[in-house]
Amino acid sequence: MSRFLGDRLKAIEAYVPGEQPRDRKYIKLNTNESPYGPPDNVVEAINSQEIYDLRLYGDPECRELKDALSRIYGIDRSKIFVSNGSDEVLNFSFMAYGHKGASFADITYGFYSVFAELYGIDTDIIPLKEDFSIDPSDYYGKNNLVVIANPNAPSGLFMPLSSVEEIVKSNPEGLVLIDEAYVDFGGESALSLVDDYENLLVVRTFSKSRSMAGARLGFAFGNAALISDLEKIKYSTNPYNVNRLTQRAGIAALENDKYFMDNCQRIINTRELVIKRLKALGFEATDSRTNFVFVTSERIEGSVYYKMLRERGILVRYFPGERTGAYNRITIGSEEEMNTFIRITEEIMEEVSA
Ligand code: PMP
Repeated sequence: MSRFLGDRLKAIEAYVPGEQPRDRKYIKLNTNESPYGPPDNVVEAINSQEIYDLRLYGDPECRELKDALSRIYGIDRSKIFVSNGSDEVLNFSFMAYGHKGASFADITYGFYSVFAELYGIDTDIIPLKEDFSIDPSDYYGKNNLVVIANPNAPSGLFMPLSSVEEIVKSNPEGLVLIDEAYVDFGGESALSLVDDYENLLVVRTFSKSRSMAGARLGFAFGNAALISDLEKIKYSTNPYNVNRLTQRAGIAALENDKYFMDNCQRIINTRELVIKRLKALGFEATDSRTNFVFVTSERIEGSVYYKMLRERGILVRYFPGERTGAYNRITIGSEEEMNTFIRITEEIMEEVSA
C-alpha cells in the first residue's frame, strides 16, 4: 500500500476471489464455473473480423445484446441493463442506492459487505436462521437497500417468489435487489414482478448457467427509471463497460439458449446424484437450487476435508467461520469430474475412520 492512498480506502478489506491456482492441474470445483464450454456458434461469433474490429469501440448502448435479452425474457429493452459481470451491477447499485444503508444476510455473497465498506454504507446484517434459510419477515420495513441472493450462496437455498414479493412490498422506500446469479439451476425468478414494483431490481449473470464467466457479462431487469440510474453511473464511470467481443458472444449465446438450459438440467441431475452419494457417505447437504452443494459431515472437519481434497487434486471452497467452518461448498462439475470427486471422498472417509 502506498502512502498516497486515501485513508478510507486504506481500511478496506477487498473481496478475495476463489483460487485460480497454477501450481498443478486440479479438478476445479471452487468458483461455480460451468464444466461445459459455450457452443460452436459462440466460438464462431468471435471470428477474425471481430478481432480485427477491436480497433473500434463497441456499441456503448449494447442495443443488439439488449434486443436479444428482450426476446429471450419477454421484457422491453428499456427495462434491461447490461454490465461487466453482475459484480458491476452490484457495485453500481450500492453506489446508487446505498445512501440510506444496506440490509443483507450474515452468510451470503461476500462482495456485498465489500461494496458497503467501499461506499461508507451503514449495514444491517441479518442472521440467517439456524438451517441457513432466510426468514422473509426479517427484511420487512427496512426501507434501505435490501440485497438478497436468491438462491443464496453458499447455502444454495432458495426463497419462493411469494416471499420475495412480500419483502418488495414491505420496503416501498427502499430498493430491493434480488441477485439471481444461480436462478437457472432451480430457483424462481422475480422477473415477473418487475412491472408491478418500482423498487425491484433483478440481477443476473452469464457466468454460471451460460458458461461465460471469463467474458464478464451480467444484466439486470428493473423499471425504466432504475435502468436510467444505472446507465447514468455507467456513463459516469465506464461507458464501454461491455467489450465488443463479449457483446458478440452474448448475442450468439442467446441465439442458442436451449443449449445452456439443457446444460443446466444436466448439472441439476448431477447435483442430485452427488447429494445422494454424499448422503450415503454420512454427509448432510442443504437443498441446493444452484450449481453447487454445501455439505458437512460429523466424521470430518470442514477444513480437513478441504485440505485432503486439495492434496488429492480437487479444489473446493471453504469458508472459515463460526457458522460455515464445518461445511464445504462444492461446485457441480461434469459427470466424470464428480465421479472422481466421489471416489476420492470415499477414500478420504475410509482414511479418517481407519
Ligand atoms: N452474485 C453471486 C451470488 C455470486 O456468487 C457471484 C459469483 N461470484 C456473482 C454475483 C458475480 O458473478 P459475475 O460477476 O461473474 O457475474
